[in-house]
Amino acid sequence: MLINRFQQTNLPHIYAAGDVCGPHDIVHIAVAQGELAANHAFGEKVKPLDDALLLNVVFTDPQIGTIGAVERDLKERGEPYLAASYPFNDHGKSILMEANYGYVKVLAEPKRGRILGAEIVGKRCWRSDHCFSGPLAMKATVFDLLRAPWYHPTLAEIITYPLEEIADQIKV
Ligand SMILES: Cc1cc2nc3c(=O)[nH]c(=O)nc-3n(C[C@H](O)[C@H](O)[C@H](O)COP(=O)(O)OP(=O)(O)OC[C@H]3O[C@@H](n4cnc5c(N)ncnc54)[C@H](O)[C@@H]3O)c2cc1C
Repeated sequence: MLINRFQQTNLPHIYAAGDVCGPHDIVHIAVAQGELAANHAFGEKVKPLDDALLLNVVFTDPQIGTIGAVERDLKERGEPYLAASYPFNDHGKSILMEANYGYVKVLAEPKRGRILGAEIVGKRCWRSDHCFSGPLAMKATVFDLLRAPWYHPTLAEIITYPLEEIADQIKV
């Protein structure tokens, strides 16, 4: 079903939200679209949903999670970016947890290092994915995330390695 950015159909008093209109069949998006539609219908000041914050998890083993832009989109749009990744099989905590398979990849804008997206394949990757959702919504840079504390030993601290690699590329 076709809708505009306020969830209105071609009959502006009829709204649609969730799987019926897409474009992503994901619960938190259906909820956000429903809230947007209701607020718009009641004349509230609303902001359209931000596609740059798309969060996706596939609950396979290993799990696959992406947030924000994926590399293919950036290539298709001709958008410049820096990418860095780090494998779980080189990280002490994941080796101990027998969570060796997978990696964390971070994509960032090359001038200031604003995070554009992240891709995580591995055990309980949704936890690490959520490490990016707040920063992405707040348009944080790799430098902002590196200022945050990262507890050792955790799976999440692996995120700091690609962040540092990107930060090093920008500083040079
Ligand atoms: C197997 C499976 C696994 C999924 N796993 C995930 C996941 O892990 N994470 C995630 O984010 N998303 C997941 N999804 C997608 C997620 O369930 C949907 O995106 C979400 O439920 C969409 O919400 P909705 O309100 O649009 O539709 P629904 O939740 O389907 O709600 C529509 C409701 O309308 C009712 N209805 C239909 N026709 C009529 C009618 N004529 N009259 C009255 N009522 C009617 C239905 O009974 C239903 O209750 C999964 C989907 C499937 C099928």
